[in-house]
Amino acid sequence: MSNEKSVQLVAVGSIGIDTIETPVARRESILGGSASYACAAASFFTRVGMVGVVGTDFPKQHVDLYKHFRINLDGLETVPGETFRWTGVYEANMDNRRTICTDLNVFASFLPKLPLSYRKSPFLFLANIQPCLQLHVLGQIEKPRFVVVDTMDLWINTAKEVLLQVIQRVDMLTLNESEARHLSGEQTLLKAARVLLGLGPKYVLIKKGEHGSILFSPDGVFLMPAYPLEDVQDPTGAGDTFAGGLMGSLASGGKVSEIAIRKAMIYGSIVASFGVEAFSLDRLHTLTLDEIEARVGRFRDMMKVR
Ligand code: AMP
Repeated sequence: MSNEKSVQLVAVGSIGIDTIETPVARRESILGGSASYACAAASFFTRVGMVGVVGTDFPKQHVDLYKHFRINLDGLETVPGETFRWTGVYEANMDNRRTICTDLNVFASFLPKLPLSYRKSPFLFLANIQPCLQLHVLGQIEKPRFVVVDTMDLWINTAKEVLLQVIQRVDMLTLNESEARHLSGEQTLLKAARVLLGLGPKYVLIKKGEHGSILFSPDGVFLMPAYPLEDVQDPTGAGDTFAGGLMGSLASGGKVSEIAIRKAMIYGSIVASFGVEAFSLDRLHTLTLDEIEARVGRFRDMMKVR
């Protein structure tokens, strides 16, 4: 039975310690991971539960930050060993990024177990993580209303078969434009989206970084720009923040329709625009719902024709 406190959205993904170099600065050992960004973004709109694993080295201050966002942590496991670590370096345009190092550490032997309190969650976000773990979570959730999966090149290269099994079972696939081309084998995004829709999901959402995103569905195509920013500090996690904001906003309304998804994309874009203004979750930490609504208003004005 659902009550005010029950989790409305579950997000499974990586929880990591990142070292990141952008043209603006280099930061060592900061909180990252797809689940961290997605849950923090969703928390502005709904009760979100996190599923992931950390090692015993995971700093308490990061858990305190999750609590600040009121993220439900019943699904966060701490096991002996080291937390997942990732190092990335961005080129001057902040678009191209090189992964210098990925240490799966405790993720290598993780088998996510959904707490009972998460199993009836109506919304599920399978953020970027090994596809076999995403599949494992799919097997434990009971009749979700809307499931979204995100992925990355690494899994398209190394775990394509399992990834395709996951994609077949979800309502929406989200990925960036180069990944869409890679997975579909098509160069134009329209053709790529058609191939990806053919894999099973009703919606395909292609992220284009600072150029926004495109939603493809059997009913048509919807173009969403990105909120223009003067200064970007760190684009890491922008896609996870976007998807988390989208899912949180959708879950808060409770209904799923093309229009509801389009509206939720506005919130996802705006929360992501705040996220990239600082490293890690630093900007989201101080963000308020009023600031989000004010920027949503300015964003809508920018898209008005008259
Ligand atoms: P994004 O910028 O959306 O690709 O997300 C960046 C976040 O994903 C970083 O905080 C990393 O900790 C995390 N990440 C990087 N590589 C992987 C991976 N192979 N699997 C899961 N998460 C990852």
